[in-house]
Amino acid sequence: MKDTPYWNPRHETMPRQELEALQVRKLRNLVEWAGAQVPYHAKRLSDAGVSADSIGSLDDLRRIPFFTRDQWMEGQLEQPPFGPILAAPQEAAIRYHMTSGTTGRTPIRVLDSMKDWEWIAEMWCYGLWGFGVRPTDRVFIAFGYATFIGFWGLHYAGEKMGCLTLPGGAMTTEQRVRTIEEMGATVVASTPTYALRMAQEARALGIDLASGPVERLILSGEPAGSIPATKKLIEEQWGAKAGDTAGMTELGTIMIFECEAQPGGTHIIEDHYIEEVIDPETGEPVGYGEQGERVVTSFGRGFIPVLRYRTRDLVVKVPGEDCPCGRTFDIYDGGIRGRVDDMKLVRGTNVYPRAVESIVREIPEIDEFQIRLYTEEGIRDEIEVLVEIPDEGADVEGILSGLGKELADAHESLRFGVRQAETGSLPRFELKAKRLVDEREVIGGEGEKRG
Ligand SMILES: [Zn+2]
Repeated sequence: MKDTPYWNPRHETMPRQELEALQVRKLRNLVEWAGAQVPYHAKRLSDAGVSADSIGSLDDLRRIPFFTRDQWMEGQLEQPPFGPILAAPQEAAIRYHMTSGTTGRTPIRVLDSMKDWEWIAEMWCYGLWGFGVRPTDRVFIAFGYATFIGFWGLHYAGEKMGCLTLPGGAMTTEQRVRTIEEMGATVVASTPTYALRMAQEARALGIDLASGPVERLILSGEPAGSIPATKKLIEEQWGAKAGDTAGMTELGTIMIFECEAQPGGTHIIEDHYIEEVIDPETGEPVGYGEQGERVVTSFGRGFIPVLRYRTRDLVVKVPGEDCPCGRTFDIYDGGIRGRVDDMKLVRGTNVYPRAVESIVREIPEIDEFQIRLYTEEGIRDEIEVLVEIPDEGADVEGILSGLGKELADAHESLRFGVRQAETGSLPRFELKAKRLVDEREVIGGEGEKRG
């Protein structure tokens, strides 16, 4: 097998100019194909005056209209169950997946062919190989293997690379930890939250993960994989390196991964995607180093063309050359930093769950936490952080007051209540941790979406 740090050495180190020429060629083909196969897209493209021939540079991408999750959902409701966006007949599909259900929202439903699944695995291979996974590795996947797409693609990538792939579906956390130990897994895939949950379980079982054979964790499913304090905690508890990745059901697979050089962010797989960063208010592009919303155009999926999809993910793009690994693929510094809709306004101050997490995770005594927003005396917004501190010898008062001060310092002196919760009382998550609970009553018809 090849001895290189790159899964696709030619593309991953391609000079930017050539890479952009490749993207333009692929974009032209995508527009041609979507227009020919999907009447819905054909109309949107022709309404905007876009044809394949008219695409001469990446700037022409901006003439293509944005596509939003709301439009996708409306399409599904009008034309159930998949909407008007399929580029192939349903009979040609071999697999169905859907987004994990957020209450009250229609899940996005997707179909794929065998060829799509080859591509889905290929994208994960960029990430696994790039983080140092090799065919001799034993990869344990701590994941439920259900309709949520999650680590399905990683499973096939493990097989494709020749790793021994250990499916960890339908197991308790104890069974998973024991299997990791008994099978001598060297790589574990899970969400950041669940990596911490397994470490906690291992401690309870008297299993010392840090001296075990696990060398790498592949994280996905939550932004926390790139929060330095959370990543450090996971790496210490497992005695292993933790690499972040991120994907979406709408794409079927990952679009970014952290390389072995761990530059504090994730490379974008730019030979298969165009990732734009825009101001979520105006839709105008923002430059390197500025935070904005990622908009993705995908070249890979054969069943569902994705053209300028508004992801609502907040990112900061920096040039690939900032990383010493030699890849020319640009980087999202800090991975996915949150969601456009994550931001909460509390008495005039912006609060991002990610920022709170990065402060809480600096305190090793805290095991699990929850952010709670509520209304006091019928009018005033309040915010409190509940923390579990299982160690009975810990200086609880000191921890609570120190945390309250740090949170206030980072939020324009906003007062945070900080309370100890009973050990084991806060919810634990395997996927998509939701640590913010917004119980505020709607005030003054502001119309801010709660929860
Ligand atoms: Zn790199």
